[in-house]
Amino acid sequence: MKIHEYQARRILSENGIPVPAGETVLQPEEASIIFKKFGGQMCVVKAQVYAGGRGKAGFVKLVKTAEEARDAAKFMLTHRMVSPQTGPEGVPVNVLLVAPGVDIAREYYIGITIDRSHNTVTMIASAEGGVEIEEVAARSPEKVLKVPLHPLLGLQGYQARELAYRLGFEGKLAGEAAKLMMNLSKVFYKTDASLAEINPLVVTRDGQLLAIDAKISFDDSAMFRHKELEVLADETQEKPLDVRARKADLNYIALDGTIGCLVNGAGLAMATMDIIKLHGAEPANFLDVGGSVTSEGAVEAFKIILSDPKVKGILVNIFGGIAKCDLIAEALVTAGKEIGFKVPVVVRLEGTNVERAREILANAKAELPTLIAATDLTDAAKKMVAAVA
Ligand code: GDP
Ligand code: MG
Repeated sequence: MKIHEYQARRILSENGIPVPAGETVLQPEEASIIFKKFGGQMCVVKAQVYAGGRGKAGFVKLVKTAEEARDAAKFMLTHRMVSPQTGPEGVPVNVLLVAPGVDIAREYYIGITIDRSHNTVTMIASAEGGVEIEEVAARSPEKVLKVPLHPLLGLQGYQARELAYRLGFEGKLAGEAAKLMMNLSKVFYKTDASLAEINPLVVTRDGQLLAIDAKISFDDSAMFRHKELEVLADETQEKPLDVRARKADLNYIALDGTIGCLVNGAGLAMATMDIIKLHGAEPANFLDVGGSVTSEGAVEAFKIILSDPKVKGILVNIFGGIAKCDLIAEALVTAGKEIGFKVPVVVRLEGTNVERAREILANAKAELPTLIAATDLTDAAKKMVAAVA
């Protein structure tokens, strides 16, 4: 789960990390009022969206007058933001952060995330932070420092001090930077984050350390113990199908192909995607409906898959264990009658009560002419690819 920058800034601030003041606004006129409230000198207007790359996309703007603040706000609130992190459709901008402008001397990158290649939580830091961090990492990987963290204790004092010196901090600032890193580590572990990132962390011209951008994402599987964080979610920033799938407890990830997949179990879903590719087509989604799929769950899953206009066929691959095959077959037929299968639907069922399930599907054939029964996984993939060819 992601949150907005202004929310992440608040979490950092509550945990001892210095961040500048700031207020959220929903209307252009409010931006000019807040500009004046902050002294009428220089402010930064920042779109609050679940994506980075705002600076380069023109959605982080330094303004020097109340009119400029209003104009920048008006532009941002009436345009979707498109950056390399959003896809061509972009994300809507509904909230802005207006903050006093900071006079920056230097920009650093500090982040904590899970390094899957080393199976560790890792602190990542660079003295060349800012909007070009991806380019720095690609061109000069040696300028990006990585430190593995203890799985339970997080960043240790000696690691923080060493990192601060390696980043070139000296004297009092080195101590402050080390403390800030320790606090970021605390935030990461305490909130069950999957990413906690400050880019840039800046040193101002008058020698202050400040986090002027913040990004935190949380581990969805841990949200049950963070009700206070769960309420921060902004559904307008997510794809509508992702929101629907989450509400129906479906594990859904949209992909680029044409074959919709409805499968129970993540492993079986992966195998289904593999076999579709093996037979020359591409999956339109990953969808794990879970072990105990209900009729309502199946109907919602079909609706989600069918609302993707790229889908030319659906492959249903269910292993009936906890949910018995006949129950699933009934659910499929119910779903088909309710929403109408406009595309070929190939069904492969295996497991408890499979014979009864086959009967149910055979009996529904007259009403659901696009339903195709398959005997095994390979047969299903072949029939699916042939049906959409
Ligand atoms: P991002 O592009 O989405 O990561 O947005 P950031 O909040 O990181 O802003 C992008 C860039 O805008 C930063 O790297 C800074 O160079 C610049 N910036 C943001 N806030 C300020 C500010 O208060 N003063 C100055 N001078 N530059 C700022
Ligand atoms: Mg940034």
